[in-house]
Amino acid sequence: MEKNTFLILENFIGGKFVPCPAHIDSYDPSTGEVYCKVPDSGEEEVDAAVQAAKEAFPGWSARSPDQRAQVLNKLADLIEGHLEEFAQAESRDQGKTVTFARTVDIPRSAYNFRFFASSVLHHTTDCHQMDHVGCLNYTVRCPVGVAGLISPWNLPLYLLTWKIAPAIAAGNTVVAKPSEMSSVTAWMMCKLMQEAGRSTCDTFRRGTHKMMQHAGVPSGVVNIVFGLGSRAGDALVGHPEVPLISFTGSTATARHITERSAPYCKKLSLELGGKNPALVFADADLDRCIETTGEICLCTSRIYVERSIYATFLEKFVAAARKWKTGVPSDPCNKNGALISKEHLEKVRSFVALAKSEGATVHCGEGINHPDLPKRNINGYFMAATVISGVADSSRVMQDEIFGPVTCVSPFDGEDEAVAKANGVRYGLAATVWSRDVGKVHRVARRLQTGLVWTNCWLVRDLNLPFGGMKNSGVGREGGRDSYHFFTEVKTVTIQH
Ligand code: NAD
Repeated sequence: MEKNTFLILENFIGGKFVPCPAHIDSYDPSTGEVYCKVPDSGEEEVDAAVQAAKEAFPGWSARSPDQRAQVLNKLADLIEGHLEEFAQAESRDQGKTVTFARTVDIPRSAYNFRFFASSVLHHTTDCHQMDHVGCLNYTVRCPVGVAGLISPWNLPLYLLTWKIAPAIAAGNTVVAKPSEMSSVTAWMMCKLMQEAGRSTCDTFRRGTHKMMQHAGVPSGVVNIVFGLGSRAGDALVGHPEVPLISFTGSTATARHITERSAPYCKKLSLELGGKNPALVFADADLDRCIETTGEICLCTSRIYVERSIYATFLEKFVAAARKWKTGVPSDPCNKNGALISKEHLEKVRSFVALAKSEGATVHCGEGINHPDLPKRNINGYFMAATVISGVADSSRVMQDEIFGPVTCVSPFDGEDEAVAKANGVRYGLAATVWSRDVGKVHRVARRLQTGLVWTNCWLVRDLNLPFGGMKNSGVGREGGRDSYHFFTEVKTVTIQH
């Protein structure tokens, strides 16, 4: 795209693109230039989307799970068929490297549809006999209705599809609102849904194929409304005809959502911030455990290292971080691209400044330090991997979520102290434990107050298993059966025979 040209996005409501009178600027984080104009939707647009979703609900929920699964598989095919375009757009919109978008974000977005297309076919319900009173009890699960889905900017299409896929697989229709800072791939997906819908109708009209063999997404099943959280997001959460909200984002926004939805007793799933610890014991395989940090909610931001290996670990870790190249997202040599926004870059930098003012040592990553960036990128929001030591456990740097490429390293003595330090924050999303002693990792994993514990690995996940955080990191779990349970209501039926 030429300089000063930008995309103009439109809401996707009832299978059609609907222009919005007002727009918000969204920037290319690697240049600081406007990349697209995002609809500044409010109550009116959200209500139109909810009405379209309501209208589509009876037809969609009446389809069998395998009919719905065909539609999900079709969506997966479409995303996979356009992988490179999606990867380029995600990188441009979000600032992450194209390599990361190509190998993680977009394949996983397609896989989310494929996974839930399959998973929805394998759920069973319960049955209990009460012979002494001649009754049979059994459970049925029904879709909830119009699901409101709100996602953040760090994994834009990946996290949006992580919500859309299980919601529609279970028979709900949805109104989704992606982050106003990273909306482009959601809009591209709407284009594919519209095209697939059109070709389904043509095929159907020609009568050459059975409808379900070329299943597009029926109009109104997936509606996407773009805009600010404080307007579009708020209108969705406060809409009386949206009984369920699945939200991924910050803990502060989740508090607002909880309060806003309380009068309607909405069903909520909240996947929130983290301050994830890594515990590195003296018997760990150090080379394997030198991981990185960054804008993934599951990244390690505090590394506690057993004192006997602390100096060795710190030296190796800093050396690895220095090699971690930051720069233009399209260059495959770069591991880190740009941060999402100027404000976010300033926030992350302010934590480094705070650490310094409190007497900490900043080992690497200070400054923008990328003299090799092309001229047009000098206004981009770049920050190199930063390693800090000597920060007190009580410091805001150790307690607050930074959500950038900053890691604090600190020593510990013994298992009890390691666990106490790891648990000594208000968050509880994920932790990693590094040790070759199976008994120790098992003991420590049980005592950690986090929803996920990885031992001697990181980010390895089977989507069947529960995902979510404790304490300020979330309420509820998502993943295979948990997502199905969240996106359905269970009913107990009793038959006297
Ligand atoms: P955010 O809370 O600012 O925004 C998330 C979404 O909520 C956006 O779409 C935003 O527009 C919307 N929103 C904002 N205010 C709203 C309101 N009043 N009502 C309704 N919606 C509103 O978060 P962010 O900065 O986009 O994302 C970063 C955060 O997300 C970090 O805290 C990170 O840890 C968290 N996160 C958590 C997970 C997880 O699985 N636990 C995954 C990814 C990101």
